[in-house]
Amino acid sequence: LAGEAALHAGEPGGAAPAVARVLPDVAGFERELDYLVPAGLAGQVRAGTIVRVPLQGRRVRGWVLAYPVPPTEGLALRPVAKVTGWGPEPELIELASWAAWRWAGRRRSLLVTASPGTAVKRLPAPPPSEPVVRRATAPAEGARPSPSASDGTTSARLVDEAWRPGVHLLRLPPVYSATEVVLAAAEHGPVVVVAPTTARAAAGCAALRNRGVDVALLPEDWAQARAGARVVIGTRAAAWGPCPGLAALVVLDAHDEGLVQETAPTWDAPGVAAERAGRAGVPCFWVTPCPTLELMAAAGDAQLASRASERAGWAVLQVVDRRDDDPRQGLYSSALVDILRSRQRVVCVLNRKGRASLSICGACGVPATCEQCGSAVALVGEEFVCPRCGLERPIVCASCGSDRPRQFRVGVSRAREQLEALAGRPVGEVVGGTGQLPDAPVLVGTEADLYRDGELRRSGPVGAVVFVEFDQELLAPRYRAGEEALALLSRASRIVGGRQYGGRVLVQTRVPGHPVVEAALLADPGRLLMSEEPVRRALRLPPFGALALLSGPGAAEMAGVLEKQGADHGHLGGSGGPVTNGWRSAPGLGHDPGSSGPTVAAPIELNKLAEDRWVVRASDQGTLADALGAAGRPAGRVRVEVGPVRF
Ligand SMILES: [Zn+2]
Ligand SMILES: [Zn+2]
Repeated sequence: LAGEAALHAGEPGGAAPAVARVLPDVAGFERELDYLVPAGLAGQVRAGTIVRVPLQGRRVRGWVLAYPVPPTEGLALRPVAKVTGWGPEPELIELASWAAWRWAGRRRSLLVTASPGTAVKRLPAPPPSEPVVRRATAPAEGARPSPSASDGTTSARLVDEAWRPGVHLLRLPPVYSATEVVLAAAEHGPVVVVAPTTARAAAGCAALRNRGVDVALLPEDWAQARAGARVVIGTRAAAWGPCPGLAALVVLDAHDEGLVQETAPTWDAPGVAAERAGRAGVPCFWVTPCPTLELMAAAGDAQLASRASERAGWAVLQVVDRRDDDPRQGLYSSALVDILRSRQRVVCVLNRKGRASLSICGACGVPATCEQCGSAVALVGEEFVCPRCGLERPIVCASCGSDRPRQFRVGVSRAREQLEALAGRPVGEVVGGTGQLPDAPVLVGTEADLYRDGELRRSGPVGAVVFVEFDQELLAPRYRAGEEALALLSRASRIVGGRQYGGRVLVQTRVPGHPVVEAALLADPGRLLMSEEPVRRALRLPPFGALALLSGPGAAEMAGVLEKQGADHGHLGGSGGPVTNGWRSAPGLGHDPGSSGPTVAAPIELNKLAEDRWVVRASDQGTLADALGAAGRPAGRVRVEVGPVRF
């Protein structure tokens, strides 16, 4: 390939024509190649421009990484065949290099995310700059009065107070007004806004346009965003959206899993937004009702709404303690039946696929959990075994000492019919999280339906959201189970409109004292973090350590290379061996690959889950990224998930 780009150039004689460095958009191809830019195209080429170039006998798409670059002596370069159109801003080309290092992936996939879906030949005119109207005088069209309108001044004040470069976490109640936050930021200049779902991005766009703000909604308004807009809004890919004159980035619901790219490289929008803001020297706001430990560790500071507004924004939580109920009584407590028979609109949440099979103590009704990590344990032969950390213990109840567990199976196949029989009114089943919501006073669906808060509220107030079987969420064998469970309660609070609208969230559980339940009861998400922190620290889970998951046929080979790197530096304790040095309490996100020097593997540790599944642990993100980068890729296919959401 070395000679591919260096074949005959078509520009004989005259002054040396300018040269562009190009990254071809070809799967698996990571080399940068130099091409001549014919005089006729010179005016259209800049860093980020999308071009077509000859490669291996074909014409392929590519990004101009730098232009002009000094021509290499003695190489006859081929010319760029065509300019396709506008591409990412030059700063985003650099951001992609950083993200490729940080998440051990390829630049190509990141540049695709930062590029328009179709060729943009010409940019529309930038809009006339209009003043941003901060405070509404009338509610948005078609909406009932926003439950959070009264909170707008608070969030605007928090944005103003934190207005300086750096990452600022804004902890607002679940019903916070995203519009007020964005308006406050947009008064300072053009803003990129990242929302966790398409529906929220579209609703945010509509609300802002209603207030007279010039908004580009990604991906469709990419060209307008590239030309200039006061607000550029979209889902997680918007973290890579163009925004000339960028004054700030705002990430809504920064805790949300929807902000993490599922396919490798597993970048997350809060992390990308923070780095982008840092490089541009502008503020980045992470807005969330339930901050995670990882967000708290990475943010420069946290601004909290007042206790009063936070309490008003979380719904009243009704905890139904099911420890005294016979498991044979099934899913439905008398409190649940009361709500079903009320006149309110009710949304019932029930996961179809049980995530944890629970062992309930036959004497005291408490589910058996792992004393090390808190997950539900499984009954295997004569022992309880933790599916997450592997801890084994005898079959004895930790609360009462009884040795008579009973397996608890959640029978959900006929849930709709059963709920309908109990309610004595129609119950509609929401299937698949899309499509029309059934027109019924009681709905049953999975947690995915909680994302449809806008739709649910539009068709009238919801009196209650019921979590029929909450323990499967609370005790799921994942390190973020608690944080995810609190996020569910926060989303449910948003659906009922918080305390001020009299709605409530009902939770059926056999662990009523769980820190997640306590945090939601007190409208104080900090409670959960206080109990999570020591566990994460002890198990060296993020943010007290960095993780990557290797999977696929090449995983063992790559693990071998990493293990050797570690051994060469005398740091590795072997698989499972404790690493005691160098754990940082607050890993930063702003690690610069350029300053990391020669890539040497510092303390890393490998754990084998299966032949084709390995966990890589490191003291911090930078160390992990350097180690993965230095290891290269094996011959066999391997998927590298840095910071796996599900672990
Ligand atoms: Zn017991
Ligand atoms: Zn465990």
